[in-house]
Amino acid sequence: MADSLSQAGLNVVLLDRRHLGRGSTAASTALLQYDIDTPLHQLRETFGKAKADRAYQLGIEAIEAIEQISRGTSNGFHRRPSLYVARDEAAAVSLKEEFDARRDAGLAVEWLAAEAVREEYGFDVCAAIRSAVAGEVDPFRLTQTLLSRSMERGVQIFDRTEVAEIDESDGVVTVRCESGHFVRARWIVHATGYEAVETLPRRIVSLHSTFAMISEPIRSSVLTWWDQALVWEYADPYHYARWVDDRIVYGGGDVSFRNAAARDRLIEKKTAELQAAFGIISVPKVHF
Ligand SMILES: Cc1cc2nc3c(=O)[nH]c(=O)nc-3n(C[C@H](O)[C@H](O)[C@H](O)COP(=O)(O)OP(=O)(O)OC[C@H]3O[C@@H](n4cnc5c(N)ncnc54)[C@H](O)[C@@H]3O)c2cc1C
Repeated sequence: MADSLSQAGLNVVLLDRRHLGRGSTAASTALLQYDIDTPLHQLRETFGKAKADRAYQLGIEAIEAIEQISRGTSNGFHRRPSLYVARDEAAAVSLKEEFDARRDAGLAVEWLAAEAVREEYGFDVCAAIRSAVAGEVDPFRLTQTLLSRSMERGVQIFDRTEVAEIDESDGVVTVRCESGHFVRARWIVHATGYEAVETLPRRIVSLHSTFAMISEPIRSSVLTWWDQALVWEYADPYHYARWVDDRIVYGGGDVSFRNAAARDRLIEKKTAELQAAFGIISVPKVHF
């Protein structure tokens, strides 16, 4: 937001209660996919073809924009293929419907039957959609790149500065910081990620917790396995995986968020669940 607003010539002040980039951005497993959690064929039923297709197209444009921003930086941006897999026959039927919708929307996708996935990637699923446009990035470094160039345009950044109160009366926004300082502005943008629930006046969010783990390094001889593809599955809740250097990050099994203590109590159970779910598409001897 700071980057876009300053590029548009606005006078911007950024306040963050933490060190910069240490919110959920630092936790992200960083699969860059244009896919929205709701499959395109279902999104079309809810919002109509034009809006749904546009939502997917915007995802592609976002990946291209991140690629552009990352040129000449150490943000770790790489294009990767993305595999959307069906583990059972029922999921494969819905996945085929999704493939038809994506092809109809002009997206660069290929249908892979079970044998093709086994031959090219070495694991057993019923079918997969392979998307050409996807990638990975280091989100923390990307954030620092965006903030550095924002500062060069004059954005004033105050980290470890918590917004305690927002008053929007009289056509002016007055922000009171926990430190006792005030910022007066014409507009305020709540770019507060999952913590938006704390400051937004209306309840428009329902939060989920996700769980992720990373493997020990894997022998380089199996590194070509998966073609470094991003993998996620047609399921609800779903699992996802990608390479990070010579390790595999694997996650998913999201549950509704109640509170941090209840979430943390689930970690042991979720670790076992993830290991079991990963085993289905794993090479032997991947240790987490
Ligand atoms: C485990 C995990 C895995 C994920 N994996 C992926 C993935 O593979 N691909 C993907 O695309 N997305 C993924 N995501 C989602 C992605 O990380 C987030 O959508 C994204 O980082 C949100 O960025 P943000 O800047 O909106 O929020 P944040 O990075 O959370 O930034 C919001 C900032 O607001 C600040 N803030 C909040 N309240 C206040 C306040 N009152 N005063 C001052 N500052 C405040 C916080 O300190 C924080 O720095 C994942 C998320 C998690 C948690």
